[in-house]
Amino acid sequence: MKEKTNLGLCILKAGREKSLLRRHPWIFSGAIERVNGQPQNGDTVAVHASQGTFLGYAAYNALSKISARMWSWQESDRMDADFFRHKISVALAARRALNIAQHSTGIRLIHGEADGLPGLVVDQYNDVLVIQIGSAGAEKWRKVCADILQDLCRPACIYERSDSDSRTLEGLPERNGVLLGTLPDALVLTEHGIHFGVDVAHGQKTGFYLDQRDNRALIGELAHDKDVLNCFCYSGGFSLYALRGGAKSVLSIDSSAEALQLAQHNVALNALDVERAQWQCEDVFQALRKLRDQNKKFDLIILDPPKFAPTAAFAEKAARGYKDINLLGFKLLNPGGMLATYSCSGGISDDLFQKIVAGAALDAGVEAQIVYKLHAAADHPVLLSFPEGAYLKGLLLRVAG
Ligand code: SAH
Repeated sequence: MKEKTNLGLCILKAGREKSLLRRHPWIFSGAIERVNGQPQNGDTVAVHASQGTFLGYAAYNALSKISARMWSWQESDRMDADFFRHKISVALAARRALNIAQHSTGIRLIHGEADGLPGLVVDQYNDVLVIQIGSAGAEKWRKVCADILQDLCRPACIYERSDSDSRTLEGLPERNGVLLGTLPDALVLTEHGIHFGVDVAHGQKTGFYLDQRDNRALIGELAHDKDVLNCFCYSGGFSLYALRGGAKSVLSIDSSAEALQLAQHNVALNALDVERAQWQCEDVFQALRKLRDQNKKFDLIILDPPKFAPTAAFAEKAARGYKDINLLGFKLLNPGGMLATYSCSGGISDDLFQKIVAGAALDAGVEAQIVYKLHAAADHPVLLSFPEGAYLKGLLLRVAG
């Protein structure tokens, strides 16, 4: 597939080329002076500064606030199958170099902007690839990219999970189904020797939270002989690591009955003893209050909530949510206990998250030290020119004894 050479032209307002010159990959609607030609959503446009300087090529989408996402800064580039094959090959080679396969059969192969492919995410679970398209540009090239992945990775199946909320913002319909091959009946990924059933068709995200891999391993190392509370446990990621790490007890809470069912199935898959594990289907905000009122205490608490702030516009409401659960978390800790607390909201910066947690500690009347600053695993890299890509941030805190 080749695009016609007479591309549309996107001309920026005076001064609005600055972020592009710093290689930020997004062009917001307010930065655009005019668009020449009649590009369809998803089509490639050439991007020019107001005085006519060439800046790069981008995928255009009139329906999104992010009206264009950069494919390339090279004038000689052409957006065609060879272009995407090159980008995908580079991303795959980068993952191979990280040697993640020695720890896990689940790997993020392509991470959108960070791999120069805005809107394209590809996760590997054994020999199944799950592709998630979140932009009109990636949508246009989805078949081309699927064919390239088929050729380079030879998977048994490529499954499409294009049903994230971000598609609505891009004006794209939801899509969920097999793209190529056949989906195996049961898919079990093995991460650091722990087996997890993955439901790529109905599970959250593409089926599993690969980004928390290293952070789960850390909890496994800290859990020995501890009473652990895992809030927002999904399919039991942190809980299973804690159980294998020798926790005395693990109470796991999630509001999704399906997630808890999968989590219990995962405990059985790993032949971990069920007596130490308790599962509770409840809203965490309420459950934490009840535990506080019952005067329950824990040695290690994990708070890994869903995205409270999809964009910066939701930051204030999200901040209240983070403050609330962290304050309650601090109150439930034994002296000397540890809190592993996360935010996966792109709209909440590292600094803001730390401030919110500091406020929660103050209000809870505890003194805490940062033991580790945490982030997503290495197969979820962040471009220096696109710090917004660092959506997952976490703190491992130890409260005073
Ligand atoms: N820690 C997990 C991922 C957590 S994802 C892992 O490592 O795999 C966030 C989870 O929070 C989801 O399972 C979702 O069902 C759950 N959730 C969302 N809102 C909730 C609420 N108010 N109370 C309890 N669980 C909630």
